[in-house]
Amino acid sequence: MSSKYVAVIDQGTTSTRCILFSKNGRPIASNQMEHEQIFPNPGWVEHDAMEIWSRTQDVIRGVMSKAQITSENISAIGITNQRETTILWDKFTGKPIYNAIVWQCTRTQNFCEEWQKKPGWTQNDKGEGKVKNITGLLINPYFSGTKIRWILDNVPGAREKAEAGKLLFGNIDSWLIWNLTGGVNGGVHVTDVSNASRTLLMSIKNLEWDQEMLNELKIPRSILPEIKPSSYIYGYTTDAGPFGGKIPIAGDLGDQQAALFGQACLSEGEAKNTYGTGCFMLMNIGDKPIQSKNGLLTTAFYSREKNKCYYALEGSIAIAGAAVQWLRDNLKIIDAAPDTEYFASKVKDSGGIYFVPAFSGLFAPFWDMTARGSILGMTRYTRKEHLIRATLESICYQTRDVIEAMEKDSGKKLTALKVDGGAVINNLLMQLQANILGSEVIRPVVNEITALGVAYIAGLAVGFWKDEGDIRANWAIDKIFKCESTEQDREKNYNGWKKAVEKCKNWTN
Ligand code: ADP
Repeated sequence: MSSKYVAVIDQGTTSTRCILFSKNGRPIASNQMEHEQIFPNPGWVEHDAMEIWSRTQDVIRGVMSKAQITSENISAIGITNQRETTILWDKFTGKPIYNAIVWQCTRTQNFCEEWQKKPGWTQNDKGEGKVKNITGLLINPYFSGTKIRWILDNVPGAREKAEAGKLLFGNIDSWLIWNLTGGVNGGVHVTDVSNASRTLLMSIKNLEWDQEMLNELKIPRSILPEIKPSSYIYGYTTDAGPFGGKIPIAGDLGDQQAALFGQACLSEGEAKNTYGTGCFMLMNIGDKPIQSKNGLLTTAFYSREKNKCYYALEGSIAIAGAAVQWLRDNLKIIDAAPDTEYFASKVKDSGGIYFVPAFSGLFAPFWDMTARGSILGMTRYTRKEHLIRATLESICYQTRDVIEAMEKDSGKKLTALKVDGGAVINNLLMQLQANILGSEVIRPVVNEITALGVAYIAGLAVGFWKDEGDIRANWAIDKIFKCESTEQDREKNYNGWKKAVEKCKNWTN
């Protein structure tokens, strides 16, 4: 094979990057640009999809010129994206009919609350309910389905256009693939199972759009992309496009699934946790979509051939690194995020306090949107160092809550946790995590794990990498954090955390 690189477009919530990877899985060149965050009303979040397409073209051209290469040096392209973010565009003009509605946007909260009241749809105490059974998800504004419904109901003329076959829906993966393969001049309209599984519209068992969900949400099937495997040649870039030549687009994965793949969590029971603004913990559960009875989501992980899919259990934590930002921006007791390590190591423990950062309710495994943040157990002995340490511990305790739910659902005990994301640079945070879990925490060398994951998926489709053995071989450890706590201390402290969480629940009701 003469081509030397796989190119990845990593389209995230705040920025878009293009990264070139070589055969040993190392990033060779990258280029990044931010885009505007649009907040039209409290709780609403939008992006301009045309701006994202324009930034995507800019970062591609930038990386090609940095690395001084042409399209001939690129074997395949992989795309990873912020998931759930919803775009509807006119297939004849190529223009979106409304801004992209971002995954964080809560505009459909009322619609979801009404839907939850309808008998049979929401999950009962036994963990059963139509939405869970069909899609593996929950009724929540987070997913694409109610966002599509909102656009069809609120943008003048949208529903008529959709019913006349003039509109296309996509998450950002579909939008970029359509544009890169020619747009109005023959662009392909596709998505992969991992993105489709975040829409509320795909049957998690059949991997096809589900008619009952489409009927319930009043979404015409004609606007939906075709669901394909994640590792698959969807189409080719064009000579006129930003790559300046014909390259196969051969990989498509949602960002959290891409990180799980990039961490080489390729066997059942392997898991990773990404520590960013929030935390996203995913566990590979093999080729059966186990339904969670403990507040987790069941999601498609990846597929390399039609009708064969690997699944993951997912637990999302809303506030993790964001609690560190709150110490910095609101309390102003640190100047920068890395200061947490310095101050927290000045004390031997958190002085008996717990900080539950439920600023926007509690996500997995509790899903209590009425919970609010609290600091419990303070005395006059309490100092800022204790609060800073308790903030780091809160990230680790929330992770343990999710892992305990995963262990219950999967029946497997997690012996080691692979970690990535911006906050894993904090060694004390990682050590506290090992102590609170009672297991090893493993930090790999490459920090571009998400982009690397979809590079692998695309590279496998074109033979750039031979098989999953190549991927395991490339994965390398930077540092292992071993548990240094006794079981007795660990359980006593965790019981304190559970008590603190109970105190925060059901607050705004
Ligand atoms: P995202 O992709 O969600 O924007 P990143 O993976 O870039 O997030 O990580 C940034 C988050 O990690 C921020 O919330 C920041 O507060 C936190 N963070 C960054 N460095 C540290 C550190 N050294 N210690 C603790 N938290 C950190």
